[in-house]
Amino acid sequence: MKISYLFLFSFSLFLFSSCMKGENVDLIIHNAEIHCLDDLNTISEAMAIRNGRIIEVGPERQILNKYTADEYVDAENREVYPGFVDAHGHILSYANQKISVDLVGCTSLAEVITRTEKYQQKTQKKFVVGRGWDQSLWKMDSLPDNAMLNKAFPTIPVCLYRIDGHAALVNDCLLKMAGITPGTIDGGEIVLKNGNCSGLLIDNAMNLLKGYIPPYTKTEIKQAILEIQDELFQYGITGVHEAGIEFEDIDVFKSLIKSKELKLNIYAMLMPSEKNKNFAAKNGVYQFQNLSIRSFKLFADGALGSRGALLKDAYSDDHQNHGLLTMPLLKMKEMSDFCSKIGYQLNTHAIGDSANTIIMNLYKKEYLINKDHRWRIEHAQVVDLKELHFFSDYAIFPSVQPTHAVTDQRWAEMRLGKERMKGAYAYRSLLEAFGMIAIGTDFPVEATNPFLTIFAATQRKDKNNLPKNGFLIDEQLSLEQVVKGMTIWAAFAAFEENKRGTITKGKEATFFIVQRPIRNETTFTPNFAHKTYILGNLVYSDDEL
Ligand SMILES: [Zn+2]
Repeated sequence: MKISYLFLFSFSLFLFSSCMKGENVDLIIHNAEIHCLDDLNTISEAMAIRNGRIIEVGPERQILNKYTADEYVDAENREVYPGFVDAHGHILSYANQKISVDLVGCTSLAEVITRTEKYQQKTQKKFVVGRGWDQSLWKMDSLPDNAMLNKAFPTIPVCLYRIDGHAALVNDCLLKMAGITPGTIDGGEIVLKNGNCSGLLIDNAMNLLKGYIPPYTKTEIKQAILEIQDELFQYGITGVHEAGIEFEDIDVFKSLIKSKELKLNIYAMLMPSEKNKNFAAKNGVYQFQNLSIRSFKLFADGALGSRGALLKDAYSDDHQNHGLLTMPLLKMKEMSDFCSKIGYQLNTHAIGDSANTIIMNLYKKEYLINKDHRWRIEHAQVVDLKELHFFSDYAIFPSVQPTHAVTDQRWAEMRLGKERMKGAYAYRSLLEAFGMIAIGTDFPVEATNPFLTIFAATQRKDKNNLPKNGFLIDEQLSLEQVVKGMTIWAAFAAFEENKRGTITKGKEATFFIVQRPIRNETTFTPNFAHKTYILGNLVYSDDEL
């Protein structure tokens, strides 16, 4: 009897105390300035999280009274945002770049060669691949030939990609190996010098190297992907729209997810290969934990830097050149019909005004079938202003990278001339046309740092605060717009708005606490995440530094 009384007593005490303490949750974030980014732009103080979901967001006292948590995190008055998304990045290219010779920032061709030599001596690779050179940073802004490279590497094949991935400089040894001789290529160019191959291959001409460049090992690639994930987490980035993967890459991501190492949300776009088409036809909209596949990526043209972007009128600094259409129209039409049939999204790289016109007309048909298709134009870099209304007329989703604007401002007007600049990097006009804009970096073409993107979009300046008065300043975005472009609008661009993109009840608890408040600053000051969470789990903390 005594025991039962004691039991009853303690049981009621337990009931009483749990009533007092309230409902149990896993985690409470409090003393915070939570930017919910919902329709009302609510700013709140605390939130309760259970099983990876946001249970409630509200005032500090309300949350602390109502819930009891296994863990409390005092944000010490810092701001909290939904996890940032890079709406256009290339994890796999960046992984390859990390293993290859890093040529980013080289200020001369001589430096490119020296870095390549040092890399080869260190790694003893029998085939050298490098990435990241950009001739616009050299004294003479002209595309290079391979004379110096041949001298340094007479017997080892070498392939060095330009920073935008739209051109490669290869030595004679590799040209010979791949059997490349002067000739014409659809959607590409084997650049000649005095009638011989100069070693420079542009756009589709690089396809001639396929099968000759040995891939890195899976272990090397996986290691590099995880390094990239850490780099992204330190900036509060919790998701990437991976802009174009091959069939084999699906397994690389899946195996890292299975081993619980890859926690980042990946929205992968498939390249239009037969294997990928079979995958899509078989699986339809595909979700494997944090990997989502339901779109294809096409390339309509090349890049502006290597004069591969397809323009209506010739380049202002090359009067014979209109750029390149990198995929036949018929093939693009076939892919759009295929996507339409299987319910996939189509995301097409279009830089030049002519390429943008072609794609907008291609998407028109989809709009007639589905008003909410969300088909995207990646970059939409030079648009004929007369055609801007197509983005609203056919509900075309613009996906842009503000850091491109401030990088390209050094030479964009040379390529385009004054008149065409009015429709170049026109992010505000694009946003006004469609009502949303997805924002990314195109890493590794640009740095992964989203705070550089915020600065570029709002101030139209690079990290050195140039140009002084901002580049095409009329096209600046507000702070709210750029943050939405990296959160809720990016979620819309990936059909994920019900899962992520705002801090609201029921959504995934994927967010970050930022070190310094995010403000519309006129000079660039570095910023980082203080703590980053995915599904309520801490994935990064600056305390560990
Ligand atoms: Zn890209």
